This record gives sequence, C-alpha cells and structure tokens, in this order.
Amino acid sequence: MSVAEKFRELYGYGPEGVWAAPGRVNLIGEYTDFNDGFVMPLALPHTAVAAVARRTDGVLRVHSADTGEGVVELAVDALEPHSGTCWAAYPAGVVWALRDAGHPVTGADLHLASTVPTGAGLSSSAALEVVTALAVSELYGLGLPPEELARLAQRAENAFVGVPCGIMDQMASAHCTEGHVLHLDTRDLGRRQVPFDLAAHGLRLLVVDTRLKHALGDGAYAERRAGCEAGARALGVRTLRDVEYGQLDDALRTLADLPTGAGAGAGGCGPAAEQVVRYVRHVVTENHRVERTIALLDAGDVRGTGPVLTEGHGSLRDDLRVSCPELDLVVSVANAAGALGARMTGGGFGGSAIVLVETADEDTVSKAVLDAFAAEGRTTPRVFPAVPSAGARRLR
Ligand code: ADP
Ligand code: MG
Repeated sequence: MSVAEKFRELYGYGPEGVWAAPGRVNLIGEYTDFNDGFVMPLALPHTAVAAVARRTDGVLRVHSADTGEGVVELAVDALEPHSGTCWAAYPAGVVWALRDAGHPVTGADLHLASTVPTGAGLSSSAALEVVTALAVSELYGLGLPPEELARLAQRAENAFVGVPCGIMDQMASAHCTEGHVLHLDTRDLGRRQVPFDLAAHGLRLLVVDTRLKHALGDGAYAERRAGCEAGARALGVRTLRDVEYGQLDDALRTLADLPTGAGAGAGGCGPAAEQVVRYVRHVVTENHRVERTIALLDAGDVRGTGPVLTEGHGSLRDDLRVSCPELDLVVSVANAAGALGARMTGGGFGGSAIVLVETADEDTVSKAVLDAFAAEGRTTPRVFPAVPSAGARRLR
C-alpha cells in the first residue's frame, strides 16, 4: 500500500501531497560540525516518505508505518520542548520549531514510511524532520529555502527532542543532489556540490551497517563536545575551526603544558588535559582531511581519497575514541581484502562504516567482511552501496 493509500485509510480522506527526504552518509569530516568545521555528506537512496494534509483546528496527527503504534494526536498549542519521548517528538518538534519561528501552522495530518535504517548512523531522524519541515513549508506556502528547513529541523532535534546534534544531517537531507557530495562549511553554511560519480570511475562506496548500538555512545557525544569546547577555550579561539592545520603542533604543546583539568575550566572537572589534546588533534586533522579530500576530488583522483578515509578512521579510533571493535573489524578486514579505504561514519559506538572499493572487488570485499563477522559469531551486518542521491523533494 502506498503512503497516500495508507493516509486515506487512517484519516478517511486523501493527502494534499507526498514528500521524501533522504538519510545520508558522511564521506569525511566527522565530529567537526559542532566545531564550526567542514563535512562532506552524500544523500542515500533511502528516504522517509510522508503523505501530509493541512488542518485548521490546531490538531497534529502523526502515524508511522514503521513503529507498530497507532496514530498519535497532539494539540499544536500545547507542544512544549521535551513534552514527549516517543518517535512523534521528531515531527511534532518540527511543527513546534516552525510555530516558534512565527510561522502560522495550524495543524496537520501526517503518515510516513521510511527506508532509512534507524539508529544506524544514517540519519533516519533528520530524514523524518526534514520531510516534515518541507511538507509543512510547502502546504502552508512558507517557501522556506533548504537551509532554513535544515535549521528548523536541527532546532526541533536540539530543543524539542533534546538531542544536541550539529547541522550536518539536516543540511545533507535538505540539500544534497544526485551524483554529488556536499562540501559544507558548518560555520556559515557555505557549500558546494562536488561531483562524485563513482560509477564513472569504476568505484563503489559501500555502507556496512553493523546493526549494533553500544550504550557507551549515549554520553560520549556530549563528552567529546565538552572536551572540544574546553580545548577552544584553552587556546583562546572561538571554536576549533579557528586552529589552522599548520598551527596544530603549537596548539598541542600549549594544551599539554596546561595543569591537569585546566582545559576544562574552573574546578578542573570535565575532560582531562590529555583527552583535550587528543580531541583537538582529531578535529584539526579531520578538517584538514576534508580539505585534502576536496583537492583530490577536484583533481579527479577519487581513488586517492581511500587512504584519507582510513587515516580518518584511525583518528576517530585512537584520538577521539568513538569507534568499537565491530567498526574496527570492518575497516581492517575490508582494507586487507583490497578496499581502497574505509572508515566508521556517523557518531560511532556501532552504527555504520563506509568502504571505498573498485567495482570489480565489491563482492570479494563484502564477502570478506561478512565472513569475518560470522567467524567471530557477531551479528550479520547489512551491506549496500551508497549511491549519491537527491535531497528532500516533493513526489506528488
Ligand atoms: P539515526 O538518526 O542515526 O537513525 P537517531 O537515534 O538520531 O538515529 O534517530 C532514530 C529515531 O528517529 C528513532 O528511534 C525514532 O524515534 C525516529 N525515527 C526514525 N525513523 C522513523 C520512522 N520511520 N518511524 C518512526 N520513527 C522514526
Ligand atoms: Mg539522528
């Protein structure tokens, strides 16, 4: 049954339109978006698809084909940050953010179905937010540009749902274009669509979803974020974006010389100086890896990006320490089986890795990864190609 047919079954009338917004993988530029840094996501063919209609009576009804729950009904006037923990907080948060920004949204009926795996580091949450934001913006004639949709979606996730994510996921879902990777400066949202025609180069980018999520990840994002902010404070810069790659050694010496805990501010609580040194090294080298990747792609050397991906994984594993045995296994086995490069992508502690391979080696590399997981008795990962796809759009 299509989403429009299901909408009709649920609500007793037809939707005004159907919209889609994709999940994403990040090629390189991890844990940089809360440091005003650079990221390079591409949209996946996997999307959240929503059938939506306006309401004028202040009621918001939402339903997902993927949760097994019934219709959730909310009053738009009563929407408050942190007022719900169920999945409906994502679309409700978007409606709240739109209204909080002064847009006269008086309600909606929404039914959605998504092919973006949830909790796999592929941004199913941003897909859900952005599809809601785009549908409501179009239905209410708000004409919001993609970057405004992304900002409102991020605000929904930060302030309403309560997840302190950066802007990358929402910008990727709202803004990516087919056949391109998005080079995004998260400081000012400056951006460029960089051609990424893997097939023309005889290459594939594989996503390996480990289908695991370690509880360890829950507090880690906030802790890394606090450590990066402490590092910026100790170095006297607004954010770590302001530390040039050429200044890294000096910056690390400055941080290493600080008394223990000084990087964390008064009281010495928070990340230790040794941790701050590692976090700063990751962010500064990662921004540099994005620049190197861009230079390689602009020079037509897509294969040359492989080692940069693997280097980035090493930094996430050893300096930021957000990887896990399963992600490390994907990277080491894929590279040993002939991949050009590989790294974890997203927040880590489970979720997904990406692997750049020659098309001719795709099967060998996938098989090697699956065999290695089987040999260690681990959950079988899901492997699929990341075909650079379109951002959010109206389907009908
Ligand atoms: P990720 O964005 O990496 O997939 P998150 O934890 O940020 O992981 O977001 C996953 C959450 O988003 C789910 O737990 C659920 O609340 C919500 N979500 C995503 N897709 C759907 C869907 N199709 N239906 C209902 N809720 C969804
Ligand atoms: Mg998410």
